[in-house]
Amino acid sequence: MRTILVVEDEREIARMVQAYLIREGYQVEVAFDGESGWHKFHALKPDLVILDIMLPGMNGLELAQRIRRESAVPIIMLTARAEEADRVAGLEMGADDYVVKPFSLRELAARVRAVLRRVEGVVGGEVLHAGPLTVDLAAREARFAGKLLDLTPTEFDLLAVLARHPGRVFTRRELLQALRDRTYATIPRTVDSHIKNLRRKIEPDPENPVYILTVHGVGYKFNPAGGG
Ligand code: CA
Repeated sequence: MRTILVVEDEREIARMVQAYLIREGYQVEVAFDGESGWHKFHALKPDLVILDIMLPGMNGLELAQRIRRESAVPIIMLTARAEEADRVAGLEMGADDYVVKPFSLRELAARVRAVLRRVEGVVGGEVLHAGPLTVDLAAREARFAGKLLDLTPTEFDLLAVLARHPGRVFTRRELLQALRDRTYATIPRTVDSHIKNLRRKIEPDPENPVYILTVHGVGYKFNPAGGG
């Protein structure tokens, strides 16, 4: 059974989410502030974390950042505002998806399923090779020059799409579609945030990327030659 940790200070919402996700077949624990969320994260080792951004004390963004320092667990952020800046901040902290309040429980459950499905990976033992990059789709492991990369589920999926067709230019829209169910509202800057994080993990100089290249006005491509 998959375990989900919900960190949300509005108790009514937390309890509603908990009850709904339990009915969907998950084991669900709740925490009402960032500090106890952090402790429960360690105690439970959940398969997914749902984090409200606005929390008393340590807020959701800080907690996401702390969790990311030691875990690639999928994170879905809850944000009260429809502000793009908030969502982008969450994604930059390493969140995999976000849901804007007020949200329907059905929508949240669909996001949970989609994110967990991505993590559970692809059937079959396909391994992609692109220059120094190796992506094992079944094991959901990516290596760069032999070194195992510590990627979030979303970063892994993005890198896998790029590595499958080295040299091909992907538009932001194509990359978004590869990442999510296309019925979800999407914003192009989501892709930019994840690309930025990926560059920090694989590029020798993330400010001057040679592997994940920006194609101005279009999108991104993976250059297996790296600078060459
Ligand atoms: Ca809140």
